[in-house]
Amino acid sequence: MHEFDFLDTAISLVYPRHCPVCDGVLKTVEIKDGELITGRLIHDSCNRKVARIRGNTCAKCGKLLDRACQDDEYCNDCMKMRHLFDRGFAVFEYRSISGSIYRFKYMGRREYARFYAKEAKRLLGRKLSGLGIEAIIPVPMFRDKENKRGYNQAQVLAKSLSKELGIPMFSDVLVRNRNTLPMKQLDVRGRRNNLKKAFNIARNDVKFKCILIIDDIYTTGSTIDEIAHEFRVAGVKKIYFLSLAIGQTT
Ligand SMILES: [Zn+2]
Ligand SMILES: [Zn+2]
Repeated sequence: MHEFDFLDTAISLVYPRHCPVCDGVLKTVEIKDGELITGRLIHDSCNRKVARIRGNTCAKCGKLLDRACQDDEYCNDCMKMRHLFDRGFAVFEYRSISGSIYRFKYMGRREYARFYAKEAKRLLGRKLSGLGIEAIIPVPMFRDKENKRGYNQAQVLAKSLSKELGIPMFSDVLVRNRNTLPMKQLDVRGRRNNLKKAFNIARNDVKFKCILIIDDIYTTGSTIDEIAHEFRVAGVKKIYFLSLAIGQTT
């Protein structure tokens, strides 16, 4: 057992982990098929309910394509709209994990990040390691909002990912300089206007050529586009993103 895993097991004896799907308490130690299992992050039966993004995906946003396609094919959404990022990757199909993300975001279940990050590495680790990513950057929250909630879920996820992928996280490079309206209420144009000049690069002392932006949910891509715009202006050449969940193409 690694030192980290041991510590984790010890902590979970006091504070049991919750399953990211059903939120039930996970056994810290159990015997299965004669083997001692520790550090379980999800129930086996719950694990089977989560749909991963596998197979043909859009070469731009990472959405699952419902048809056989070439390597460089775009989904309908990306064919209609030009994006400013290079390419995106997603881990889960949104509908199968939406309840989990809700608790992760609003109900303090930061511990789910470990499961999310491990799955991201398992599914995308090899692809990501070939890209030359120098920095992992979470989508920032407006400071007042983050203080109220107590944490920024994208940053919690980015931190776990940074550990899994062995790429440093920089959470102070990008800031959100005002509170934006909830995106759910807005159409594509409204989303773009809502986000104009919402982000700022706060540090000039770090220069990256290639970055990975982290967010929890990808919908229209307007948030990532706005961030990508700022980083392009700052001279970043390759801008990738990873979203925990992504919907289906419209
Ligand atoms: Zn469960
Ligand atoms: Zn796409």
